[in-house]
Amino acid sequence: MHPLRPVLLALARSDRLREWMVGLGLARSMARRFIAGERREDGLLAVEALNQQGLLATLDHLGENVTSETEARDATTEVLELLEAIASRRLRSGVSVKLTQLGLDLSPALAAENLERIVALAAEVGRFVRIDMESFSYVQPTLDLFEELWTRYKNVGVVIQSYLYRSAEDVARLVRMGASVRLVKGAYNEPPEVAFPRKADTDANFIRLMEQLFSDEARANGVFPAIATHDEKLIRWAQEHTRRHDISLDRFEFQMLYGIRPGLQRQLVADGYRVRVYVPYGEYWYPYFMRRLAERPANLLFLVRNLFKG
Ligand SMILES: Cc1cc2nc3c(=O)[nH]c(=O)nc-3n(C[C@H](O)[C@H](O)[C@H](O)COP(=O)(O)OP(=O)(O)OC[C@H]3O[C@@H](n4cnc5c(N)ncnc54)[C@H](O)[C@@H]3O)c2cc1C
Repeated sequence: MHPLRPVLLALARSDRLREWMVGLGLARSMARRFIAGERREDGLLAVEALNQQGLLATLDHLGENVTSETEARDATTEVLELLEAIASRRLRSGVSVKLTQLGLDLSPALAAENLERIVALAAEVGRFVRIDMESFSYVQPTLDLFEELWTRYKNVGVVIQSYLYRSAEDVARLVRMGASVRLVKGAYNEPPEVAFPRKADTDANFIRLMEQLFSDEARANGVFPAIATHDEKLIRWAQEHTRRHDISLDRFEFQMLYGIRPGLQRQLVADGYRVRVYVPYGEYWYPYFMRRLAERPANLLFLVRNLFKG
């Protein structure tokens, strides 16, 4: 693991640095590489352009860890309006939501109520809602809320992080349910008590979890795996495994983040794969941006070099 990763992830939680960075023109313009823009319209236009290239999308209105019920309800309203706009423009996009943006820190009941409003409208307009996975303390509450909702709605899915020791068990349960699972490595700063400290172990576990998600049992139960990574080794593994097991290309998809490896995204589409791009927009871009820097600290060098150039 890069030594700067935990530092950057700790800074992602700093309000003072956030205030400073948000006011900084250069940080803002660097963030634009990973974020479609600050307005809803920016997100919608980015999705339109991706759709024209054969890419699917999931839109994320940036925000997390809200501290008041009003903020949670406002965030919910934004996602509801976003869904209306996606449907009226006939975009090939769903939405991704974070439960801490819908009020999970205030009360699970509030987050559940807001999430259900979103999933219910999405069902009406034929769109999918992905519940992003946040840091470890939210994993169990997120899976609990998802499971409860799954009894009533099937246009909703969850995310599993391969850096967590518990994920094999979580995937086994989701496979039995026939759920839609997005598999990621994991973007937060987790202690060795709950997560593999070594990247090689996270990557090896990613393969074990893909084996579970592509198993005969998973297919029989209707599991739809979304392999969300830019790691070419893992993408190649998924391509070879699905080819060997005759898993058709409409039974799973690859997912990548906006602004990362766009050439690879288009190449996979050209090769006949379903590819979905995660498109974030909104004013609250700082923690999302810091997680992207932590994944590749070389991005930070670019920022620092340009800061000192003046
Ligand atoms: C669609 C999608 C949704 C996600 N949702 C969640 C979620 O809900 N919860 C969660 O914890 N995490 C989520 N993540 C983030 C994920 O956990 C990883 O932190 C992130 O994807 C980087 O890991 P990687 O799999 O690309 O592999 P890595 O080994 O980190 O990267 C592989 C290669 O990808 C490229 N790359 C990766 N990151 C960057 C970057 N920031 N800038 C430039 N190049 C880069 C580089 O070429 C790198 O060598 C999501 C990721 C994707 C793609």
